[in-house]
Amino acid sequence: MNAFDLTGRVALVTGATSGIGAATAVLMARRGAHVLVAGRDGARGEAVAETVRAGGGRADFVAADLREARAVRQLALQAEELFGRVDILVNNAGAYPFGPTEKTADSEIDTVYALNVKAPFHLVAQLAPAMARRGGGAIVNVTTVAAAYGFAGMALYGSSKAAVELLTKAWAAEYGPRGVRVNAVRPGPVRTEGTAGMGEDLDALAAQAPAGRSGEPQEVAEAIAYLASDAASFVHGAVLSVDGGRSAV
Ligand code: NAP
Repeated sequence: MNAFDLTGRVALVTGATSGIGAATAVLMARRGAHVLVAGRDGARGEAVAETVRAGGGRADFVAADLREARAVRQLALQAEELFGRVDILVNNAGAYPFGPTEKTADSEIDTVYALNVKAPFHLVAQLAPAMARRGGGAIVNVTTVAAAYGFAGMALYGSSKAAVELLTKAWAAEYGPRGVRVNAVRPGPVRTEGTAGMGEDLDALAAQAPAGRSGEPQEVAEAIAYLASDAASFVHGAVLSVDGGRSAV
């Protein structure tokens, strides 16, 4: 069997109603996974699931606001109850407000950390032990190039994703010996619904990298699907940059 194949796996992809998450859901379903499309927006979520089904794949939309710890745990329970298990977890949902540190409201700090850090934490706490009991699983966290560089205006966002990169390594140490591989993909600037408003700022960021352009959601999805698959069977605790080479220069 092709090592990239995901046939028979159940994959929970957060933030799958848009951008990188939607591209990941569609790609994983094309490779055989039954994908749980998680997000808040029912119309966009059903549209992604419908795209998958129209292509002959399996997908269901599951609604959850991941800023609420209770809703996060409920999502994990619901996924396991409705679909029997979760073999692949992609922690992709994220918020990325930019701005000066002194103008950042306390509520915004709470929101960004709730969605970007606490939600993955609770999902892993809930799902990784069950993966381990079943003999294996794969978790892929989506971070950002801003987790590794000190960009002005990205202190809150970058620090939240830097936490996720450390969690990726800690969870690889914690769950890897029990068969659960935990890795991260670190994208550079990508054109998505979420970055549509950034206009030339996104192009200016992208211009700093060897590729000299912003990425497409599909290009990040390919890396996520790889890390989730048996093709990456010896890859644990890695942070894979998919950033047009920004990390190299
Ligand atoms: P996007 O187009 O803005 O979509 C964000 C996704 O997160 C949507 O599916 C949204 O779903 C979901 N989401 C937002 N708030 C949520 C909440 N409270 N509860 C549940 N789901 C929520 O995102 P993107 O640009 O594809 O980015 C995806 C990930 O890649 C993020 O973690 C981001 O930090 C990271 N990243 C992006 C870039 C980039 O340039 N695009 C670069 C580096 C890293 P609903 O609206 O349906 O809730």
